[in-house]
Amino acid sequence: MSELLRVEGLKKYFKTPKGQLHAVDGVSFSIEKGKTLGVVGESGCGKSTLGRCIIHLLDTTDGKIFFEGKDITNIRKEDLKESRKDMQMIFQDPFSSINPRMTVKSIIMEPMVIHNMYGGDKAKQEEKVLEIMDTVGLARRLADSYPHELDGGRRQRIGIARALALEPKFIVCDEPVSALDVSIQAQILNLMQDLQEERGLTYIFITHDMSVVKHISDDICVMYLGTLVEKCPADKLFEKQFHPYTEALLSAIPVAKVGARRERILLKGEITSPINPEPGCRFAPRCLRAKPECFRKQPELKELEPEHFVACHLY
Ligand code: SF4
Repeated sequence: MSELLRVEGLKKYFKTPKGQLHAVDGVSFSIEKGKTLGVVGESGCGKSTLGRCIIHLLDTTDGKIFFEGKDITNIRKEDLKESRKDMQMIFQDPFSSINPRMTVKSIIMEPMVIHNMYGGDKAKQEEKVLEIMDTVGLARRLADSYPHELDGGRRQRIGIARALALEPKFIVCDEPVSALDVSIQAQILNLMQDLQEERGLTYIFITHDMSVVKHISDDICVMYLGTLVEKCPADKLFEKQFHPYTEALLSAIPVAKVGARRERILLKGEITSPINPEPGCRFAPRCLRAKPECFRKQPELKELEPEHFVACHLY
């Protein structure tokens, strides 16, 4: 397997009237071709900002992004259009990410028109749209429907079809099933896994739902307030967690066994402000195992076991 994407020390700060908001603060990881990296954490931890920086919907403040070995951090505008063919995004809410005045066919076809696919041959583009609709399980008869005429699952299939229109290699999936009913979530996740197998796609899968991330990921990064706190293969993380925040996250997953219970760790305390954050571990005010050092020095990500990285002063 070869590496498709590498991110080194990525930072994204926003200016606010109160100071610099550290949305993403020095995140590093890599993904191999055909694999899925799950990125988990609670709302506001910077996971969506991270995804948007990687595909250049947002500029980065610092750090490097490499795609197929090429540094694309400060890619020129002309080259960005070309790289969009390889890197696409699926958004959480298809209602706000697709134009409600366009038909299903025109939504899926729009990227092909922008990129002048098939030399601008409209008949070929339309044929491709119908093929993609077959692939994502959207009936061809819906081609002239509008998004509001369809249910949530079908609308998300439009989002996936649009992301596939340019035959990308890599897709950032930003909470793609969070707004859907549980039964529809399973259908969409299975569809995404089938597409990955057929097309060798590589995903970053952003979610706050640990059950979903377990189902779909090869590797997992856990984020807390802009920093990466734990990173390892998915099966290892569900066997053993080192970081107190990861332990708390996993304790919230329901156990699917009659009579079985998992002790829930309830986090208390104030969430640190991401604006001009104090030195020290960002999780310290809520951590049940915090010690004085935790409030003074930010822990570095260390490899505790093969492929298992943790940022915590306990180790
Ligand atoms: Fe808790 Fe300290 Fe580890 Fe942070 S570094 S998670 S405060 S023990």
